[in-house]
Amino acid sequence: MHKINSEFSEKIKQYGAFDINACYNCGNCTAICPLSTEDNSFPRKMIRATILGLEDKINSSMDPWLCYYCGECSDTCPRDADPGGLMMALRRYQIRKFSLGKVADIFYNGFSSVFAWIILTLLAIGGIYIFGNYPDMEKINPLSMISLDTLHDGGIIAFIFLILLAFFQIYVMMKSVNGFKKKSFKFSESVKGFFDVLFKEVLAQKKFSECEDKSRYIAHLSLVWGFIGLFIATITVMMIDLFISTQSTLKIIPKIIGIVSGLPAIYGSVYFLYKRGKQKDNYSKYSHHTDWIFIILIFLAILSGYALDICRWSLFFKGYYVSFALHLIIVFELIITLPFTKFSHLMYRPVALWLAELKNKE
Ligand code: SF4
Ligand code: SF4
Repeated sequence: MHKINSEFSEKIKQYGAFDINACYNCGNCTAICPLSTEDNSFPRKMIRATILGLEDKINSSMDPWLCYYCGECSDTCPRDADPGGLMMALRRYQIRKFSLGKVADIFYNGFSSVFAWIILTLLAIGGIYIFGNYPDMEKINPLSMISLDTLHDGGIIAFIFLILLAFFQIYVMMKSVNGFKKKSFKFSESVKGFFDVLFKEVLAQKKFSECEDKSRYIAHLSLVWGFIGLFIATITVMMIDLFISTQSTLKIIPKIIGIVSGLPAIYGSVYFLYKRGKQKDNYSKYSHHTDWIFIILIFLAILSGYALDICRWSLFFKGYYVSFALHLIIVFELIITLPFTKFSHLMYRPVALWLAELKNKE
């Protein structure tokens, strides 16, 4: 028996679903959606649940994470109810639901999020001030501003924090998924399903490639691969510093990986910034403020990374320190808020795809 929350369709408006009550159940969206099957009328099942206020049904559904927001359903909706927008609004709603201590609420409320971002920025500046060395503006010294040891320690602490939080929130998500808790899947099936999702959906973005708008697929793939490259480059530098030497010439390898990977990541972020700014396509018409903050931070993180390298090579000392400080602040904000912001789709979506894969195999 599902509990009904008659105010749910109003409540969901704050997450970006403005027009879903206009739906008159014609079924066009289900007919066009590539994810729709005989057993799962995608996205109509979620539309009905929202309109009827079946909050626990929504909480236990992975559908919002399976949608790749191609916007085709919204294009064909005769009532401009924006079903694709609803799926994204439900994602935002679930990010809040799964979040530890409802911390995500802070970032999904316009007013409190302004304070949160200001406080995080001040914290990062304070961290640089407290843990930093006073840079020698007359020469570029990689140990100036903040020592590599401090950076590495901070990186390890942030990594442990993220892993623990990710496991906890993924556990909350899995617990809420309908049916999952009652079933036990074979270990071999689970492992196979995990690798299927990793290769097909994370690395190749197969479902995304079914989108009619191929440019969006390429931009998203560029962001994913760019990020993977930047992550590998960062971890490799840390390993060389920790286990070989901070002066090792081997660091040129991750440096090159970082420079090359930044290019597709810049392309992907500029593409999404441009599309959101233009508001022409259905999927970019109604951006939530959390979408904007996420993509702007990504763009600034990569840009400041390039800027500090360019300043260092051109011996522009002050530019180097300023861009380095900016880079540290932005990366700190991105990492520390990952489990609570749009960035968390990085962990929730693969898990949802994996659960769906297991369910399909059943
Ligand atoms: S196409 Fe529009 S009106 Fe028709 S079922 Fe989907 S959301 Fe409702
Ligand atoms: S946005 Fe695309 S994938 Fe998502 S429900 Fe609509 S048609 Fe389906």
